[in-house]
Amino acid sequence: MIYKRSSALFNDAKKYIPGGVNSPVRAFKAVGGDPIFVKEAKGAYLYDEDGNTLIDYIASWGPLILGHAYEPVINAIVAKAKKGTSFGMPTEIETDLAKLAVSMVPNIDKIRFVNSGTEACMSAVRLARGYTGKDKIIKFAGCYHGHSDSFLIQAGSGAVTFGSPNSPGVTQGTAKDTLLANYNDLASVKALTGANAGEIAAIIIEPIAGNMGCIIPTSEFITGLRELCTKEGILLIFDEVMTGFRLGTGGAQEALGIDADIVTFGKVIGGGLPVGAFAARNEIMSYLAPDGPVYQAGTLSGNPLAMSAGLAMLTQLNNNPEVFKSLAEKTEYLHNGFNTVLKTKDIPYQINRYGSMISVHFTDTPVVDFATSAKGNNDTFKKYFHGMLEQGIYLPPSAFESYFLNDALSYEDLDKTIEAIDKVF
Ligand SMILES: *Cc1c(COP(=O)(O)O)cnc(C)c1O
Repeated sequence: MIYKRSSALFNDAKKYIPGGVNSPVRAFKAVGGDPIFVKEAKGAYLYDEDGNTLIDYIASWGPLILGHAYEPVINAIVAKAKKGTSFGMPTEIETDLAKLAVSMVPNIDKIRFVNSGTEACMSAVRLARGYTGKDKIIKFAGCYHGHSDSFLIQAGSGAVTFGSPNSPGVTQGTAKDTLLANYNDLASVKALTGANAGEIAAIIIEPIAGNMGCIIPTSEFITGLRELCTKEGILLIFDEVMTGFRLGTGGAQEALGIDADIVTFGKVIGGGLPVGAFAARNEIMSYLAPDGPVYQAGTLSGNPLAMSAGLAMLTQLNNNPEVFKSLAEKTEYLHNGFNTVLKTKDIPYQINRYGSMISVHFTDTPVVDFATSAKGNNDTFKKYFHGMLEQGIYLPPSAFESYFLNDALSYEDLDKTIEAIDKVF
């Protein structure tokens, strides 16, 4: 494949945009080479600026669960755009999307819309602090909750790929209120709650992790967290920016059978437009301005275009919940295909999968937390990534990311992907 035009566009972009990109992982630093500039996309395929066609396994990092340029979503956006793009006043469609989201997700009464997953998680923590009157939070190494200051402590994916686990610019004062535990290690959490008794507002977690590859919590760990939070008066925040409306209508709460106290959303809920949200039961949400004292706002929050995309997307998923089964089956098919191929090659590997999230790690140790994820051989990953790309398969350009399948992927696409991995190794 030839990437002449992509490389030229990248060189031009670097003159005006730091690193040539508006979000670091896109720059291909972890895998080497120049990033590919996309021109358009439809269904499961990306069409790049050099005329190459690629089978897409990132789906804009999650939102496009039904494939690119999905008609009902596009039509909703176009129709809405003709009526004005922003008002800074209330609109009916905000309630329509809120009502639908609340009906789909267990254990929430109210939802507030923001513009990104970062904003959702940042606001959820502020709300938890305001509600509990406590300052500290616990997060898990390798979990990503957006790029706000309190979370840039061993934050997985992008941050780890760039070797800056703790970003300059995050003050000591902020960092000291974020305590770090290990995923799937309840003892590490109990050590922190014990040493900081009465000071912890919230524990925030990716209930199925996707930013250090796909990592599934043991049931002992996740039920243990719930019990611990209830006992200690700590709010449990499920960051469902990745898992919400991807694992099923009710997200990870439903899949795992665990109620969180605050839930954050992004990605799928915006149908490909910039939307985030956070939600909880009334007693917690009533602390939010203008009902309560915890301030949170946004000039473009609840934007009509974004709401129309989200509403069209969630309506599709709610009316056709069998799509989640179809996605999980496709992901399992890919898993089995990869397994059959990789078994015959002389490379250590692990495959983790949950629903439509899957990741391949080149290590012989089971990947259950950040430390075991980081053991993956990055040289093998780079060769694998570029080899797959050469075969027309676009994978996440980082060993710490999960793949996101979209339902436009056909079994023929999956077979091509499995054949590609055979060729590459
Ligand atoms: C993507 C992601 C975020 C951040 O969302 P942005 O919209 O990129 O700000 C937060 N949490 C998780 C789990 C994510 O995957």
